[in-house]
Amino acid sequence: MRAISLINLIIFLMITSCDSPKIKVDLIVHNAKVYTVDSAFSKQQAFAVADGKFVAVGNSVEILNTYAADQLIDADGKAIYPGFIDGHCHFMGYGENLIRYAELAGSKSFGEVIERLKLHDSVNESEWLLGRGWDQNLWQDKQFPDNALLEEHFPGKKIFLIRIDGHAALASKAALEAAGIAGKTTIEGGEVQLRKDGSPSGILVDKADEPVKALIPLLTEPEQIKALLAAQDSCFSKGLSGVVDAGLPLSKIRLIDRLQKEGSLKMKINAMLDPDDITLDYFMPKGPQFSERLSVSAVKLYADGALGSRGAWLLEPYHDDQHKSGMKLFSDDFYENICKRAYDNGFQVNTHAIGDAANRYVLNLYSKFLPEHNNRRWRIEHAQIVHPDDFEMFGRYNIIPSIQSTHATSDMLWVPDRIGNERIKGAYAQQMLLNENGWLINGTDFPIEDIDPLKTFYSAVFRKNSQGIPAEGFQMENALSRADALRSITIWPAMGIFEENVKGSIEIGKAADFVMLDTDILVADEDQIIDAKVIKLAVFGELVYEK
Ligand SMILES: [Zn+2]
Repeated sequence: MRAISLINLIIFLMITSCDSPKIKVDLIVHNAKVYTVDSAFSKQQAFAVADGKFVAVGNSVEILNTYAADQLIDADGKAIYPGFIDGHCHFMGYGENLIRYAELAGSKSFGEVIERLKLHDSVNESEWLLGRGWDQNLWQDKQFPDNALLEEHFPGKKIFLIRIDGHAALASKAALEAAGIAGKTTIEGGEVQLRKDGSPSGILVDKADEPVKALIPLLTEPEQIKALLAAQDSCFSKGLSGVVDAGLPLSKIRLIDRLQKEGSLKMKINAMLDPDDITLDYFMPKGPQFSERLSVSAVKLYADGALGSRGAWLLEPYHDDQHKSGMKLFSDDFYENICKRAYDNGFQVNTHAIGDAANRYVLNLYSKFLPEHNNRRWRIEHAQIVHPDDFEMFGRYNIIPSIQSTHATSDMLWVPDRIGNERIKGAYAQQMLLNENGWLINGTDFPIEDIDPLKTFYSAVFRKNSQGIPAEGFQMENALSRADALRSITIWPAMGIFEENVKGSIEIGKAADFVMLDTDILVADEDQIIDAKVIKLAVFGELVYEK
């Protein structure tokens, strides 16, 4: 009796396994080289997606035998990675630039800036002429520009041109007059630069540009929507399925939420909170918020300015200007009050710190609130120049560095002038920072750098700019491995916003965000990586970009 039922059971199993209908899913991708970026960094060939999530990951035969889908993608052996995440950028600001500011990045002279402005002005009729991205370090004399030339070409026009790092600007005479800046040299947290005759040159460093900025008309809501969608289009084409916007007020976070709910904005966004009362009073009592595409988990602060405009706060004076060592931007009370409020309400604090004095200040500030060995993931944004004695505090207090690999290779040509050859050893020290916690966050700070995460990968691994300079790489002891560079633009930025359980790797149960490239960046030659292109990008299993 028992023997018969066992045989029956075997026959039953044989029949059912042959005939059992395949499990219906929405999408199958097979014949791929899938870098899952799971904890074992395993490689697979295929996956199945249902309801926007990965439901199976494995070899092609297994997946094709078990699942059926109307949408079947044969990857033709191409490499697939988790959707890229930019751990620190200005998504909305980038969109605003796309629709309103003349692009000045890469201008090789101030004359070229003028030419680009003329072109922009001829197609955008407006009271204000706005531009962004100039960098005097790319010009022959490397001197800050003077607004006299603007006056020559655009007499009487209100013009405001933001430097590449966002920490200095050139304003025209009319703009300065409208803002009431005549001869004041210092504004709290900033500097108005003067000519030899005592008149303002138009250069405004750090917070000195605020009186001018306050006059520029805000974008209307339809313009803001246009900006967000423009930013989304260009980010999708580079394989980004998620971004962390480093500082937004409540009104803009609400607009993003609305557009996501309406379905037009599909980009996943973590919004760091601007530290204004309206924004903090709204979010602090609620605690961190997580939805499918929008999350809020941190407050964004600024400790100092940037190196290019000598606003970064240094322990010793600038190598090329002994009278300056940068400055702290706000009072101790301000920083401590925000940290306390964030800590008590379960938020992260993410503070911009470039100079070694700023990094030391923020490490000490955080250590007043964080116990040693904690999981609060408070971050230092940029962590650009760190004194050798201070690295260990990142590990001791589990403070997570949020770096930009492309900053290293954009700045390396002129930064030795600013800080000399000794301090440079602790600058852009990405592997040393990685050693402290075993992970870090990478991003671009776009629009300061190009939005392309493959440039981040390339800079992180080869420590060269996109022209392949320098041939031997910049401070190669701080290059990241290819696997870590990939983690730094996928799973680690997800950890940086407490979302590693829902995205950042190709694993069952996680959001089906994935990117297919024409080049396998984990093995390809160096020169092929810089030219690699995105073929497809999916967010929650929906193809949002196809080449
Ligand atoms: Zn930033």
